[in-house]
Amino acid sequence: ARERNCGGDHSRILVFVRLRPMVKREREAGSRCCVRIANRRDVYLTEFGNENDYLRLKRLRGRHFAFDASFPDSATQHEVYSATTAELVEAVLQGRNGSVFCYGATGAGKTYTMLGTVENPGVMVLAIKDLFTKIRQRSCDGNHVVQLSYLEVYNETVRDLLSPGRPLVLREDKQGIVAAGLTQYRAYSTDEVMALLFQGNQNRTTEPTRANETSSRSHAILQVVVEYRVKDAAMNVINRVGKLSLIDLAGSERALATDQRTLRSLEGANINRSLLALSSCINALVEGKRHIPYRNSKLTQLLKDSLGGSCNTVMIANISPSNLSFGETQNTLHWADRAK
Ligand code: ADP
Ligand code: MG
Repeated sequence: ARERNCGGDHSRILVFVRLRPMVKREREAGSRCCVRIANRRDVYLTEFGNENDYLRLKRLRGRHFAFDASFPDSATQHEVYSATTAELVEAVLQGRNGSVFCYGATGAGKTYTMLGTVENPGVMVLAIKDLFTKIRQRSCDGNHVVQLSYLEVYNETVRDLLSPGRPLVLREDKQGIVAAGLTQYRAYSTDEVMALLFQGNQNRTTEPTRANETSSRSHAILQVVVEYRVKDAAMNVINRVGKLSLIDLAGSERALATDQRTLRSLEGANINRSLLALSSCINALVEGKRHIPYRNSKLTQLLKDSLGGSCNTVMIANISPSNLSFGETQNTLHWADRAK
């Protein structure tokens, strides 16, 4: 693994790619697989999925994308969790913040990766399970408090997924930016949390035209705060707080622009402001800029204390194998490539 820069100069963002298996709908439409993963790292993409095209690409070394790791469609939820998020859970227990995002077009596998299913729970559930295990292994486990909040940003409106109701207002206080009235759920066990997350996910905004489908424009954010007491060198008791944010982003299909100027010119259009603003912040962090434009959206305001600086940031780019999604996949890979 490359060394992570924690000094706050250039923020280091780890970028992963996860290829999902072909789904029935794609097979029935006669799709071909247009993505190959080699060496657990390199991603090759050809428009028509021809074997000869891959061989040519491989000979032309360099004409491919390389990420911190790339997961083939056979990767398990556990493999993805361990490689992307386990370290961040460890860091939260040292009192540091971190965030993990799933990025990609609608249908690419973001929700499967983040939330998963009851049989195959995803990163959110596995992270909490791991957190409880690690807390139990500590000698002073009795003094850890784990609190969860689960919220949605939809059309620049913030809603509580654990207690649906009126939109929440963001306020700036001593601790930073907080959503006023947001439920802070004190958690004691994984099973209870899993039920809560699936229920919360049901509360995500659905597309008016497709009642059962969660909107491709909704971001779901799970924030896990761990607070505990330790004694410092002078034997004073101090409070330590670490926060992990796990984010199932809106579909990326309509948010390809990344710089500020494009952001402004697209403002009137039906483009996801929070997703564009997140791209701007990530690009600014990667380029080592001093000004990070957190204020441009609700999502980036909410994540201000979890992005950049000494925080760990992980991006998982989800892609479909089908040549029918070639354009989206190419855009997702380009976007992820810029975040490195
Ligand atoms: P998104 O949230 O990006 O719109 P989903 O997570 O809902 O996409 O995935 C679309 C479909 O593909 C779902 O039916 C989901 O169960 C399935 N799927 C996604 N990733 C995987 C995977 N790694 N293994 C098996 N099925 C998957
Ligand atoms: Mg989804």
